[in-house]
Amino acid sequence: MSFSPETQLTATLLAIVIEQGERICEQQETIKELEARINKNSSNSSKPPSTDGFSKPGDKQQTEPSGTDDNDKPAPKSLRAHSGLKPGAQKGHKGHCLEAIEHPHHIEYLPVRVCEHCHQSLSTDSLVKVVEYQVFDPACPGQFEVTAYRAEVRRCTCGHKTQATLPEGVTNYVQYGAKTRALAVYLHQYQLIPCHRIAEFFQDIYHMPVSVGAICRFQKTTYEQLASTELAIASALLHEAVLGADETGMRVDKKTWWLHVLRSEYWTLYHLNPKRGRVAMDAMGVLLLFTGVLVHDHWKPYFHYGVMHTLCNAHHLRELQGVIDRDCNRYAGRMMRLLQFSWHITKGFRKIGVAAMPALILVRIERLINGYWHVR
Ligand SMILES: [Zn+2]
Repeated sequence: MSFSPETQLTATLLAIVIEQGERICEQQETIKELEARINKNSSNSSKPPSTDGFSKPGDKQQTEPSGTDDNDKPAPKSLRAHSGLKPGAQKGHKGHCLEAIEHPHHIEYLPVRVCEHCHQSLSTDSLVKVVEYQVFDPACPGQFEVTAYRAEVRRCTCGHKTQATLPEGVTNYVQYGAKTRALAVYLHQYQLIPCHRIAEFFQDIYHMPVSVGAICRFQKTTYEQLASTELAIASALLHEAVLGADETGMRVDKKTWWLHVLRSEYWTLYHLNPKRGRVAMDAMGVLLLFTGVLVHDHWKPYFHYGVMHTLCNAHHLRELQGVIDRDCNRYAGRMMRLLQFSWHITKGFRKIGVAAMPALILVRIERLINGYWHVR
């Protein structure tokens, strides 16, 4: 039985259409699966919140286009019912106001000998009053200790009243001491413990009430006190031969800010800015004056600065791994191994006190790199 050419053509075309239809169905399934995978986040799957990125919807105002921002983070959906109360302490809430105690653990008496105005000696009957300043600090676990500074106030025959000089940092009748402030700043800035948990820590461990507001104030004061240290680090970095630069997103007051870092072997300078890139780096200052070698990840804004640029091998390795994953490129694999090998050799020389790799080995490695490049 034979068919006409038209019938045969129709049958062939029909077979192609059926096959294509089946393929489209398969591809639609694959697309659905991939879409589902992309749209997964911490709010609708078992993925941890750390994989959501920093940004949130409607939070695109402060980033420069870089191609690395992740603005797909889901808005958090609270599963709790609203209490109808305003956030923070409620009316009638008993605050943690520090109160003077009757029997301080240590007492330091601060006499006044001379009038601060006319410099004449003050007589014994010139005493007007003694003012007490109490300083609270943690002692051993389960206890806090209070040091009372009792400062004399004397009136001179010239009419001027002089109060004894208090130790540095003692300014209020009742206050926390340097130990409390240092511990609170350390726990918050280094151990990354939230302020309300630090307040609990002081209450639980030392039975000492420290309010969240006080803990926040300690951070601010320390930040202000460290201004000169920051300046010293910036100026030390200017004299280094090689600097590394990088940046990462951080949440500040529900917005994404950028933490820029510049570091050498001995110094690290952090700079937090609502902007990412040149605005932040100019505000940081160092790169405007630095003339050495800058190691970075190839991000365009770094090339604005008049330094010698070196691209970071950790980023090269990641990008080479990406090439391998996408294209199964064998030269990428060889280049990765060569970079890792050269790094091990460099470290080996450094261990035995040789700072720079011998020229002979350097030439050999360069030849290998150029060889790979040409083969490619
Ligand atoms: Zn006087």
